[in-house]
Amino acid sequence: MEINLISDTITKPSKGMLNFMYDSNVGDDVFKQDPTVNELEKKISSLFGMDCALFFPSGTMANQSAINILTIPGDQLICSKYAHVYNYEGGGVSFNSGVSCKLINKPRGLFNHQDVIDAINPPDFYHSPNTSLVCIENTTNKGGGACWDLDEIKKIKKVCNKNNLKFHLDGARIWNACVEKGYEYSDFGKLFDTISVCLSKGLGCPVGSILICKEKYFQKALKIRKIFGGGMRQSGYLAACGIYALDNNIKGLSHDHRRAKEISNLLKESYFVEEVYPVETNIIIFKNKNQFSTQDFINFMDHNGVKLIGMGDNKLRLVTHADYTANHHEKFMNLLSKINAENLLM
Ligand SMILES: *Cc1c(COP(=O)(O)O)cnc(C)c1O
Repeated sequence: MEINLISDTITKPSKGMLNFMYDSNVGDDVFKQDPTVNELEKKISSLFGMDCALFFPSGTMANQSAINILTIPGDQLICSKYAHVYNYEGGGVSFNSGVSCKLINKPRGLFNHQDVIDAINPPDFYHSPNTSLVCIENTTNKGGGACWDLDEIKKIKKVCNKNNLKFHLDGARIWNACVEKGYEYSDFGKLFDTISVCLSKGLGCPVGSILICKEKYFQKALKIRKIFGGGMRQSGYLAACGIYALDNNIKGLSHDHRRAKEISNLLKESYFVEEVYPVETNIIIFKNKNQFSTQDFINFMDHNGVKLIGMGDNKLRLVTHADYTANHHEKFMNLLSKINAENLLM
């Protein structure tokens, strides 16, 4: 049996999801005539208490569209040095929108409102790029699934208002953040100009992201999605997965979080581990002691049927998800215990 802890994106649609997909009504979404896409968009915009939502093929395209809508070429956005928009979207910020990033170097992909104030270029100093947008990620991916404190986000929002900055949330894993912290989706809807969310991570859909926005951005969102090649036809089959996931798969996230914490507790007691970063949700980032190279460790785990990835900087990552079952968890925990009991890495 293979245990895949590489990402929560590796999940395959369940029977229930596939059946729901099969039975859905579809139309041509480029003409906005797919009833299932329209239903999903309506469901998500009302969950977040925002005006509009638009279905996208990927989270990258949703983020890139938001950035394009909220900036003009030459602008600068503020984000964490761990941000997905900066690290993992192929340089799209500059390629698609002619925008640069001012990076905040704080642990776990989090920062505070003073960091934002410090990162804003003085608007009257014409030599520097015009700061026009702040992007945050909740939960943080490269930051190890960390959750933002809502009060800090509110403070950043105030800074944005005062300095005429737009505010985008990369909420690829907002579901995990809300389950863990007990926040409502609408708490976030009130604070941001645009929010992207992924259906294809913890919620177990094969494809799909949504850009949620204020009414005034909707036509621009539709246009830029078309320009990026993201207008799809009978995409209701994919949107159906999202509807099914929102109704059925949110509750499973607390199991993912519990299992991640159990794994992290065991790693903390392991002789080969130098440090485990705090685990709040479904992502575990840890560092092995120097003598246990990350590649050797990945290979050893692979031989034992467990897949994980390195994150650079000598760090390793494990992600729990819907297809990581109780059975997988027991096997994996047993393997970690056995490594410890029998010094298997020595
Ligand atoms: C996965 C992810 C995205 C979007 O990724 P796609 O693979 O393009 O769907 C965006 N932001 C974060 C934080 C992510 O983890």
